[in-house]
Amino acid sequence: MNRSNFINQLERTKEFDICIIGGGATGLGTAVDAASRGLKTVLFEQHDFAKGTSSRSTKLVHGGVRYLQQGNIKLVMEALRERGLLLKNAPHLVHNQKFIIPNYKWWEKSFYGIGLKIYDKMAGKLGLGPSQFLSKEETLQFAPTLDPEDLKGGVLYHDGQFDDARLAISIAQTAAHHGAAVLNYFPVNGLLKMNKKICGVWVKDFFTGKEYEVKSKVVINATGVFTDTIMKMDDTKHENIINPSQGIHLVVDKDFLPGDTAIMIPRTDDGRVLFAVPWHNKIVLGTTDTAVKEISPEPIPQQQEIEFILTHIGRYLTKDPQLSDLRSMFAGLRPLVKSKSKKTAALSRDHLICIGDSGMITVTGGKWTTYRKMAEDVIDIATETFALTNNLCITKELKLHGYDKGVMPAATTLLSIEELKAAIKKSVEEEMCMTVEDFLSRRTRQLLLDAKAAITIAPLIAKLMAEEMNKDEFWIKEQINNFNLIAKSYTFTAKQQL
Ligand SMILES: Cc1cc2nc3c(=O)[nH]c(=O)nc-3n(C[C@H](O)[C@H](O)[C@H](O)COP(=O)(O)OP(=O)(O)OC[C@H]3O[C@@H](n4cnc5c(N)ncnc54)[C@H](O)[C@@H]3O)c2cc1C
Repeated sequence: MNRSNFINQLERTKEFDICIIGGGATGLGTAVDAASRGLKTVLFEQHDFAKGTSSRSTKLVHGGVRYLQQGNIKLVMEALRERGLLLKNAPHLVHNQKFIIPNYKWWEKSFYGIGLKIYDKMAGKLGLGPSQFLSKEETLQFAPTLDPEDLKGGVLYHDGQFDDARLAISIAQTAAHHGAAVLNYFPVNGLLKMNKKICGVWVKDFFTGKEYEVKSKVVINATGVFTDTIMKMDDTKHENIINPSQGIHLVVDKDFLPGDTAIMIPRTDDGRVLFAVPWHNKIVLGTTDTAVKEISPEPIPQQQEIEFILTHIGRYLTKDPQLSDLRSMFAGLRPLVKSKSKKTAALSRDHLICIGDSGMITVTGGKWTTYRKMAEDVIDIATETFALTNNLCITKELKLHGYDKGVMPAATTLLSIEELKAAIKKSVEEEMCMTVEDFLSRRTRQLLLDAKAAITIAPLIAKLMAEEMNKDEFWIKEQINNFNLIAKSYTFTAKQQL
């Protein structure tokens, strides 16, 4: 992927078929779907790809055992099908993960065990392995740091796990491979209309300040928690449809849960599920569900959320993680749809697609696991509504970029200078990595794995990136300052002391 080439493409193209606002899972997936059907496609992301919710998930590709508990069979079936497709098409970034539900009450083993047998059946041919009933001894073999007192046994099941930001980059590269222009650091600042019908967008290159008027037959709003902002640009009378809900994750060292098996706690005090999942040699603990009013590109974990996770996970482990054990913490905002628009064209259980009076299409809600299906649905609707040539969707069978190659190392701190230089070169040349934060947060996952280590290595990364990108001392200083400002909220501070 090359940003300058995409800008040339932007300048050369008189009119696109599909213009997508938002470069998270939904927008990028939509770009792949459109471009691979042969449609002239452009995508604009205001920050970096996946800077929003799509780099801050629990990293599970799952059918949703929770939805099964709620009896939402259709949603689980759809997600299980998508889980299977993702494992097939992106094996470099998605893998089969074992989970254990520990049982401390006599009824839990049969209750969860039977539920998970249904989950296996529903996955059918795309299943990842049968669930199993475990004795207490077997459970402790898989998860030796589970609290053994009163432990009756456990149920083992399989789901998918992935690297969300890396998958987003791979999807962007796939879209580019099929001819889409995908531009990061390109905010959409306005919508173009003719006779009250949408016909394009106003965008601005964040780095040069240059503005562009971009014409497109279809404009798709895929901006996650920012959905309402774009809908208000389209219609000033628009009433909000998104209820943002914050979820945080805490990251601790592997010795809190050695081995390769994750733990799933099916019911916390507030009725949610809680996970402890091995990820790139650390353990990710989460998540929470906190209604928030402010939508920030860098949401900050709240003290009570940190406390909630530490308290709950502490009940199940022999060694309780403390605040001082946290290597990193990160927060994301769920784009939960609160009301269904009257103009709903398709509502696939938890994602919403609607068309405004101007013809702007909005796609929102859903989850990472179902991004491909959301993309297929929205492009089906776009091609039908606007009578575009409709080649059939091919993404069920489409291998994602890099599926046959090695993956970028997740942590930078163990790399030699030569390896670091190679990783930076690849990120800058092939992955549109523009800033130190892009590199440490989403091209590698250093900031999410160990925030203090990321802060320590940031000056070296800035220097090496400056060499690669031909930047000066001023750029280096600015990059380090910007990075440190963001990284601060990934480390705990005295203020957050419980
Ligand atoms: C805590 C948490 C845990 C989760 N865990 C999982 C999980 O384990 N598995 C799973 O399947 N799902 C999970 N999800 C859900 C999943 O992460 C989201 O559904 C998904 O990432 C949403 O993607 P999106 O593209 O719709 O939104 P986003 O990723 O937020 O993308 C929208 C993008 O639009 C951009 N944008 C906004 N305004 C403009 C503009 N004017 N111009 C240009 N760009 C703009 C934003 O910068 C942003 O990058 C989780 C969500 C949360 C919050």
